[in-house]
Amino acid sequence: MQLLLNAHVFAPQDLGIRHLLIGAGRILWTGERKADFSLLNANIVDLEGRRLIPGLIDGHAHVTGGGGESGFASRVPPLPLSRFTAAGVTTVVGVLGTDDTTRDTRALLAQTRALRDEGLGAWCHTGGYHVPPVTLMGNVRDDIVHLDPVIGVGELALSDHRSSQPTLDELLRTASDAHVAGMITGKAGILHLHIGDGERGLDLVRRALDVSELPPRVFNPTHVNRRKALFEEALDLARRGCTVDMTAFPVAADDDAWPADVGLQKYLESGAPADRITISSDGGGCLPQFNDQGELVHMDVGRPACLAETLRDLLLRGVPLASVLPAFTTNVARILRLHDKGGIRRGAAADLVVLGSDNGIRDVMVAGTWHVRNGRQRVFGRFEHPSETGPVS
Ligand SMILES: [Zn+2]
Repeated sequence: MQLLLNAHVFAPQDLGIRHLLIGAGRILWTGERKADFSLLNANIVDLEGRRLIPGLIDGHAHVTGGGGESGFASRVPPLPLSRFTAAGVTTVVGVLGTDDTTRDTRALLAQTRALRDEGLGAWCHTGGYHVPPVTLMGNVRDDIVHLDPVIGVGELALSDHRSSQPTLDELLRTASDAHVAGMITGKAGILHLHIGDGERGLDLVRRALDVSELPPRVFNPTHVNRRKALFEEALDLARRGCTVDMTAFPVAADDDAWPADVGLQKYLESGAPADRITISSDGGGCLPQFNDQGELVHMDVGRPACLAETLRDLLLRGVPLASVLPAFTTNVARILRLHDKGGIRRGAAADLVVLGSDNGIRDVMVAGTWHVRNGRQRVFGRFEHPSETGPVS
């Protein structure tokens, strides 16, 4: 049992100063007035008015390591536990990308389960960039229905030279399998779509919505801030009912892209539905630049830390915490149907982050266990050497 006193709770809405009782990995009680829990012999932590927010949910990370676009040596290694927790990420969804050949659903499931064993909330999608999607059980519907950590399909690639150039029918068939599997299980049942730099943008998704009975929530495009024109398309798609996802990648001043913090502000100002925007890290994924022959000329690797940096940058610009938090927490939990995640309330998972005075990540609790305290990493993955990870901020 732990008693958290004097937390300024953003649930994500601003609830003011609250006290919380944590036990069995859950929030057991929250109240404005201190109750007498002396009989419980709880460990007491006084947060002295610091901001307490829900743990961040990273809906798109290459937990196995992604990349591989420039030979075998360009395969990115798996991301260790502390890369997520140091960034305030308490729940992650793993995906396969371009390389769904040397990496497959088996490897993704194993890595997802490894992160769970180390304490993180972890789920994954089946498939990868290509159709027919790589699966374990033979088709995506069976994977979602029968494999506990699998909640959807993706990241299936559109408008990208690395995609399998899927037809409308192939997209519809895959989306319908995801949707039906979601109904059978209560899982997310979404088709998570990688959108590339191609001019076609979200055209295929619009056509899928035009011609089919599938509900818009099934189509969940990501990287929509990678081109400014694509971002405008994404606003329209959100108005039609899709939840759209931005990537917290670094953006240079002359790039035709919006950094996720700027994109989120623009999204909220546009009047598009505030609950249909999310931000993910693409951690472990390749952030490539290609020449006009599709050859890789530069490669960066996505980092979960970019999520925390995006939140910090928004706060430094004076954007209210309660207005930006849903894109990192409740909105993600809703589209992923992770009902006990993303908010601070009685009965929810005790996935909590304390922000420091610098708007960085100060403390991180996952399922009732402190992984980061006072900016120091306390829990590491099995193959991490604490001295290699450096200080968290
Ligand atoms: Zn992608």
